[in-house]
Amino acid sequence: MNKMNNLTLDALLKSVNEDSSVNSLVQASPVCHKIFDPDFKLKFMSKSGVTALKVESAEDFYGKIFPTDDAPKATRDIVNKYMHLASEGETNTIEYSFEVDKKVIWFRTTISPYFDAEGNLIYITADSMDITSNKKIEETNRTLLETSPICLKEIHINNGPGYTLMFMSQAGQEQLGITNIEEFLGKPYPPAFFPDKARTAFTKALDSVVSTGESVQVESELVDTHGKPLWYLSTFSVLRKNVDREVISITGASQNVTEKVVNQTALAKSKEEAERANGAKSEFLSRMSHELRTPMNAILGFTQLLQMDSKSPLTARQNENLELISSAGDHLLALINEVLDLSKIESGNLDLVVKPINLNELMDSALSFANPLADEKGIILKYKKNEGKNYCVEADMLRLRQVLLNLISNAVKYNKPGGSVEVSFGEQEGDKIRIGIRDTGRGIPSDKKDRIFEPFERFDTDIENIEGTGVGLTISKQLVEMMGGTIGFETAYGEGSFFYFDIPISDKTIAPLETEIPPDLIPAPLPKPHDRTVLYIDDTPTNLQLVQQILSHRKHIKLLTAPSARLGIELAQAEIPDLILMDIQMPEMDGLEAFKRLEDIKETQSIPVIALTAYAMDADIKKAAEIGFKDYISKPIDVYKFLNTMDKLLK
Ligand code: ADP
Repeated sequence: MNKMNNLTLDALLKSVNEDSSVNSLVQASPVCHKIFDPDFKLKFMSKSGVTALKVESAEDFYGKIFPTDDAPKATRDIVNKYMHLASEGETNTIEYSFEVDKKVIWFRTTISPYFDAEGNLIYITADSMDITSNKKIEETNRTLLETSPICLKEIHINNGPGYTLMFMSQAGQEQLGITNIEEFLGKPYPPAFFPDKARTAFTKALDSVVSTGESVQVESELVDTHGKPLWYLSTFSVLRKNVDREVISITGASQNVTEKVVNQTALAKSKEEAERANGAKSEFLSRMSHELRTPMNAILGFTQLLQMDSKSPLTARQNENLELISSAGDHLLALINEVLDLSKIESGNLDLVVKPINLNELMDSALSFANPLADEKGIILKYKKNEGKNYCVEADMLRLRQVLLNLISNAVKYNKPGGSVEVSFGEQEGDKIRIGIRDTGRGIPSDKKDRIFEPFERFDTDIENIEGTGVGLTISKQLVEMMGGTIGFETAYGEGSFFYFDIPISDKTIAPLETEIPPDLIPAPLPKPHDRTVLYIDDTPTNLQLVQQILSHRKHIKLLTAPSARLGIELAQAEIPDLILMDIQMPEMDGLEAFKRLEDIKETQSIPVIALTAYAMDADIKKAAEIGFKDYISKPIDVYKFLNTMDKLLK
């Protein structure tokens, strides 16, 4: 209790008002000093109060209860309450607000009573500080803490080892299922209900903040107080340091990332499943391809052999029948190939080899294939050669030619008798080359235009029995798009169509063409009989027979056959052939394994080995090439091409 033996209220007022040094001290202070008489009436208010409250003069309020009735009731009540407590001897610091010019201003005020020697109250002082800006910061912080979905924490560093939780925001308490935070405040952090792994990770992160002063981020799986798992991405940073610059407290901001982590895990799982399914599809395609091509090999191969057999000529009727078998077989093979192509594209298993392609060479090569077809149908095939520039495009040579041939063959197939087809190319906007095929054919009815690139859609073809699968355009579109191009068409029903595709120009000028050597129909004249030995290893008897019969057209080749890889290896060691033809899929030991064994044997390791297989999948071709097969011939065997390859290799 403040006891002032010799100072009366009047003397005090006189001193603050008239003593120039006291007055200037009081009036210059940023603190608003007020003096009240024992009846709580204002007797003095210093200048900072007048300024803060934006009133004309302090004197207007002298002799009145202050704050006046204009002030908010809450403020009047609190001041009134503490004035009474002061009159009973208590000193208190309180906070209250005023509204000045529609803005709220806050004061922190210390109310103190002064008594004379007899214990009579002589006056009360109230010293107020404007704390509006502190209040605003506090309010912002509180709003942030209350509304942020992030779990904010304050963690103190113990004197001994370990950490203590000092604060946790509402969001954190809710996320962790904490109903009474008092049970955790002032207690060790991380709390005991966190799994060991998370506790270790958090402690390590806090240790690192203490030792380096740098923020640390850690993602860990926790559980809430009910044991429900949740993922937190937490950042720990320095909050305060002591005078010795040692870290004394740390803030933690943890974000609940459970949903993200769960989604990512689900995504990774479904990706894995999709990859597995894709793998299975690819495996199925590979098997299908093998199963379908094996019988086709026998059908087409023996048909070709019969047609070639000049020693026992067939009747005209038999030749016609053979022609039918051969063309039906070709059609079936085309269908198998196209369906496999389509499945490969759709399952993402088609690998393209994109490189600069010289357009003139591509055209020449495609037209050499297309010309016989046009001749056969009586269609004039014209090609407008671009003599000026030697254009190159960025594309996969084989696939680009496949697209071009498909469009030309459609233009021929769906043409009118005596009609024509014109192929041309030219530069397009956007660094593309447009290759166009114009025909004078039937055109496409407008109601069918939208479906032209859909698989198995064919229009008006049944009537005229035009061969086709209805997949060519679907594949062409996909291939062109895979090569970064676009495909399109214009058509007038009954007049003709213009199909085109635009493909990116290459800035390179070189473009070596992978030319296919035209099949050599005349057997290579080699004098000495049996001066070359070929070993053929295959478990299918019809395949062995077919190759046997084909090679009977090459008198200088002695063919050895083996129905299993094991026997084949033994025979190779004993006979040292000039060339080995190896089937890939065989029971017990497959062709790839047999190849590796031959590589390990000194006598056989330098014999060239060619894969002869119905596996037409890119992956198999790659695998065979990788382990060192010299070449790859896929079944069904084209008799002419096969002989040509043999001639080349055994030269
Ligand atoms: P296919 O020729 O094997 O039937 P495509 O996918 O190449 O398969 O073509 C689908 C259909 O589009 C053809 O069956 C035909 O009805 C129509 N078509 C394609 N090109 C032309 C064209 N140049 N003129 C008229 N119709 C065409």
